[in-house]
Amino acid sequence: MEEIISKPVMRLVDVPMEETEEAKDAPREMTLHKHENEVTLRFPALSQNEGFARMAAAAFVTRLDPTIEELSDLKTAISEAVTNAIIHGYEKHPGEIRMYLAITDMTLYVEIEDYGEGIPDVRKAREPMFTTKPEQERSGMGFAFMEAFMDSLEVISEVGKGTLVRMKKTIRA
Ligand code: ATP
Ligand code: MG
Repeated sequence: MEEIISKPVMRLVDVPMEETEEAKDAPREMTLHKHENEVTLRFPALSQNEGFARMAAAAFVTRLDPTIEELSDLKTAISEAVTNAIIHGYEKHPGEIRMYLAITDMTLYVEIEDYGEGIPDVRKAREPMFTTKPEQERSGMGFAFMEAFMDSLEVISEVGKGTLVRMKKTIRA
């Protein structure tokens, strides 16, 4: 069978692609601080990774046995947040997205963070139908969907530093 050698196509600023010698020797213990289970995914802001993030979150929450509707709401919210990071956060330069997922009891906690443009006025950005890209036929409904489909939404952003979206959803089934 042919050996498949994958080369990194894009290097992210300040993110080492290979492990350092030090990191290789580090102990592999993992402490869970706040939740029963936690995962962090870091991936480049490429549109194909939107689907990956959505499916990864759906797989992670399977253990809570969500209804089809709960699953669909969750996937939509994640999809909107990751899409925002890709098209708004990293419009001018590529970069890294961090997605953190955690579960305690029947609640899923989600964080989606970018280190890109940032949002000058978060309150305005969260208003339904507010968009800075009407020319791209954006409808300005991303944050409204996240708010409607999740139990809570928190948006923390700083211009030039990036945006952190925090959401949670309790599975009621
Ligand atoms: P839609 O989501 O309906 O396609 P939209 O992305 O413009 O349109 P929202 O998702 O509600 O609408 O976001 C509103 C605005 O907030 C965006 O137009 C953009 O200006 C800003 N914004 C949202 N997320 C980010 C982000 N991660 N980085 C920078 N700006 C953002
Ligand atoms: Mg959006």
